[in-house]
Amino acid sequence: MEQTFIMIKPDGVQRGLVGEIIGRFEKKGFSLKGLKLLTVGQAFAEKHYADLSSKPFFNGLVEYIISGPVVAMVWEGKNVVTTGRKIIGATNPAESAPGTIRGDFAIDIGRNVIHGSDAVESAKKEIGLWFPEGVANWSSSLHPWIYE
Ligand code: UDP
Ligand code: MG
Repeated sequence: MEQTFIMIKPDGVQRGLVGEIIGRFEKKGFSLKGLKLLTVGQAFAEKHYADLSSKPFFNGLVEYIISGPVVAMVWEGKNVVTTGRKIIGATNPAESAPGTIRGDFAIDIGRNVIHGSDAVESAKKEIGLWFPEGVANWSSSLHPWIYE
């Protein structure tokens, strides 16, 4: 089954949005496979966002991500990468639809509350980076009530 990496950024943690965000993924029917709260350092944040290292906002982005604890998660389910991005909404909250996490809870692009992997390949890479110890192996007994 497909997995994605979801991170509640420091602003989401500070603003008390952890429960709300977890609830949205849970209620959709996705399964939580990994979860931890941690503060990452500069080198780790730079590695996570390595693809964006040439962007003008890179340094500010790294500063933002290391500014406080984040909640790192692995969620599993059919099409969870693409659907997770839809639940999160567009990168710029000014363009994120109401009903999405960024559309409902964010205003500025540099304080957009949450990260989600953009493809199955990047999800694998990010899960390996954030959860080198591996994730839980369990299956929800609700499975037949969610999948046909
Ligand atoms: N970002 C920013 N300014 C920009 C574009 C992106 O501060 O002009 C930040 C924003 O927090 C975004 C993150 O960099 O979530 C990663 O950018 P990406 O294009 O990967 O967007 P995402 O995949 O998070 O929607
Ligand atoms: Mg991205």
